[in-house]
Amino acid sequence: MEFRDLKSQYQRYKTEIDTAIQNVLDVGSFVGGSEVKELETKLSEYVGVKHCITCANGTEAMTLLMMAWDIKEGDAVFVPDFTFFSTGEIVSFRGATPVFVDVDRDTYNMDPVKLKQAILKTLKEGVLIPKVIIPVDLFGLPANYLEIMNIAEEFKLKVLEDGAQGFGGSIEGEKACSFGHAATTSFFPAKPLGCYGDGGSIFTNDDRLAKLIRSLKVHGQGEDKYDNVRIGVNSRLDTIQAAVLLIKLKAFENHEVKDVNQVAEMYNNRLQGVEKQIIPKGYTSSYAQYTIKLKNINQRDSLQNLLKESGIPSMIYYAKPMHKQKAFSELNFVNEDFKVTNELCDTVLSLPMHPYMSSNDIDDVCRIVNEYVCKF
Ligand SMILES: *Cc1c(COP(=O)(O)O)cnc(C)c1O
Repeated sequence: MEFRDLKSQYQRYKTEIDTAIQNVLDVGSFVGGSEVKELETKLSEYVGVKHCITCANGTEAMTLLMMAWDIKEGDAVFVPDFTFFSTGEIVSFRGATPVFVDVDRDTYNMDPVKLKQAILKTLKEGVLIPKVIIPVDLFGLPANYLEIMNIAEEFKLKVLEDGAQGFGGSIEGEKACSFGHAATTSFFPAKPLGCYGDGGSIFTNDDRLAKLIRSLKVHGQGEDKYDNVRIGVNSRLDTIQAAVLLIKLKAFENHEVKDVNQVAEMYNNRLQGVEKQIIPKGYTSSYAQYTIKLKNINQRDSLQNLLKESGIPSMIYYAKPMHKQKAFSELNFVNEDFKVTNELCDTVLSLPMHPYMSSNDIDDVCRIVNEYVCKF
């Protein structure tokens, strides 16, 4: 059994994907080919925002926004404690300070109450200046943007939606990557919409911001490529990746988001005696991961071993909270401020999940989990 079966997807769309790649090889525009522009248009239509700017990967997409917003030393950026390293890394990379915020016990996403506490604490200490909030759409579920945007407005902060896992999700019909002042996603192969290498993009309705990012991602270009008006980076999506994504986006829209939600529903109905990530009313997830919560670390780890013995892969996202990463050890965090994240890191387990998963495979996973949990 595959954890995320990219081979089945390729087999289903092999002819179209092979033709699209071959076409790029024949035309020879490996960087900046027409597929890139076409993809940006299709992606912005899908998400429902004015601008989509593709780039090299999801991490650089966020870095480009930090550059555009001039985030630097002395600035505080609020990041969930329960996320992939990248979300905090890009803050420190700019010399700014990530302030980690504990998450909600049910949704695993940034807790707005704790966010407000963290902002007030930072203001009271008076060392760092609060600038940006980066909520993460964890495992495919959009964060609580309604409350987070209210807090952002109250304290005049920018919001960057880290939609690396969230692409395809929604809140009341509004698509992920349309929230906040700008959003980013990743096309890493295992993400909800993945390419065949690295890729990422930025979404925003802000014309000036979009223009600035288009300059920053190509060496700070001005009027043309050899007119450089600011210091930037080289961050582009290759034409071959754009060609692959154009095919995959069609499949994503036509059936994959629906299919992956059907798999989730089968899991929800068949799994007994374990807690699951809660999808609140009005929200939909694109299920980058299907994650359950066990009683404690022993129960979780032995279940993972048992699954492994039966040839079923599972993953622990994430075993270590951000505040415990060695790379952030200079930032003195109080472990007690992260009760929920600490608990989640000991108890979560992500099960095989993808739109091509068969009912039989779901049954096999559920049988082992259910038998194990009722004995424990
Ligand atoms: C994958 C991921 C990223 C980074 O994306 P890359 O394309 O791998 O750089 C950022 N944030 C989260 C939450 C992710 O899961």
